[in-house]
Amino acid sequence: MSQTILIIGGGIAGLCAAITLQQIGMKVKVYERNTEPTTAGAGILIAPNALQALTPYRVSEEIIHQSYSSDGFHIVSDRGRPITQLKVPSSYGRIHAIHRKDLHQILLSALPPGTVAWGKSFSRLEQKDNEVRVSFRDGSQAVGDLVVAADGIHSNIRKQIIQKDTYRYAGYTCWRGIVSVDDLPGVSPRFIETWGTKGRFGIIPLPKNDVYWYALINARQGDLGIANYSTTDLHRLFRNYHDPIPNLLLKTTSQDMIHRDIVDIIPMERFYSDRVVFIGDAAHAITPNMGQGACQAIEDARILAECLRIQRTYQGAFVDYDARRRKRIKQISNQSLMMGKIAQSESFLFTSVRNQLMKHVPKWISHNQAQRLYQFQLKG
Ligand SMILES: Cc1cc2nc3c(=O)[nH]c(=O)nc-3n(C[C@H](O)[C@H](O)[C@H](O)COP(=O)(O)OP(=O)(O)OC[C@H]3O[C@@H](n4cnc5c(N)ncnc54)[C@H](O)[C@@H]3O)c2cc1C
Repeated sequence: MSQTILIIGGGIAGLCAAITLQQIGMKVKVYERNTEPTTAGAGILIAPNALQALTPYRVSEEIIHQSYSSDGFHIVSDRGRPITQLKVPSSYGRIHAIHRKDLHQILLSALPPGTVAWGKSFSRLEQKDNEVRVSFRDGSQAVGDLVVAADGIHSNIRKQIIQKDTYRYAGYTCWRGIVSVDDLPGVSPRFIETWGTKGRFGIIPLPKNDVYWYALINARQGDLGIANYSTTDLHRLFRNYHDPIPNLLLKTTSQDMIHRDIVDIIPMERFYSDRVVFIGDAAHAITPNMGQGACQAIEDARILAECLRIQRTYQGAFVDYDARRRKRIKQISNQSLMMGKIAQSESFLFTSVRNQLMKHVPKWISHNQAQRLYQFQLKG
């Protein structure tokens, strides 16, 4: 079944779909509204399940080469005292931290030149019996057999097709930054997440002595006062947290940090509609608490290609794709929401009990959970 596939959105999901679909002989074109590859963005964690999904395309090796890795997370209190470790079983590989711009470049380099059409902002699509027609804001159009909707959490394609608002605000807001730490004492080679009553703080080493940090605090959605926080404001909040948190904030300029309210969407009831199939955040944006949003987008891209490869019709392939993805996405989306609630508690009593309980979770439970999360399964 060779088809012409229009992919809308050139983020991680769209580029990965272009890689996996080209590999099975599909004719693909990616339409991205940005006029050039992204250079902004902080760091991102790529977990073993995503690397396993990308193994056949030689992209995994490059991600491993250009990233900094760890065997999991150390969760600590605001004083730096150990709470628990979230470890990847050693046979599954490691978690890799990479600059987002480097990841995009790796994915783009795996595609033949000209695969991505830049500066093409989707406006509408029209499904016909034997084709789908896409219109862009510049007045141009493209026609293909199928459309892959990879246009992110605010997907215009999803809005056109399901006409329903499915956003959920998680109750917290996030800042991210990258700083060079050549001369900063107290930076550890570990991936550390600190849970305190004033908020959560992550410290993730990147290659070339850079550190990716993130901070999450509880807040009302769209609070403009908070959205305008400077690094000095954040320093005020986190000044009593363990080293090197206050110094990382002092070293970051306010212009260099990215702010975003944490929102997910209820996963779509069906990840397809006739000739259109949804992947990545467009289908199921997940809260970032488990570092799995992009990893699941990568799994989507691999499994979609597998379904189109083995099924005789696109209808059969989309039904198969939906069936293979649904349970895993629902589980991870719910687990991630729950983890955010537990980690963001501001109650002194709750956090004291939580920290004690987490220290005593039997190793086999956390091992089994990690196995389920970090094992990519082509059959879903
Ligand atoms: C704070 C934070 C931290 C995170 N950390 C991690 C992590 O460590 N690990 C992880 O796996 N995930 C993480 N995630 C989630 C991850 O960022 C997303 O799941 C991932 O980027 C989704 O990729 P995507 O390609 O589906 O969507 P996007 O990255 O949003 O890409 C969508 C693309 O479509 C384009 N587009 C949008 N509209 C149009 C249009 N009308 N026409 C044409 N193009 C369009 C956009 O310009 C963009 O390039 C994090 C998320 C947040 C908020």
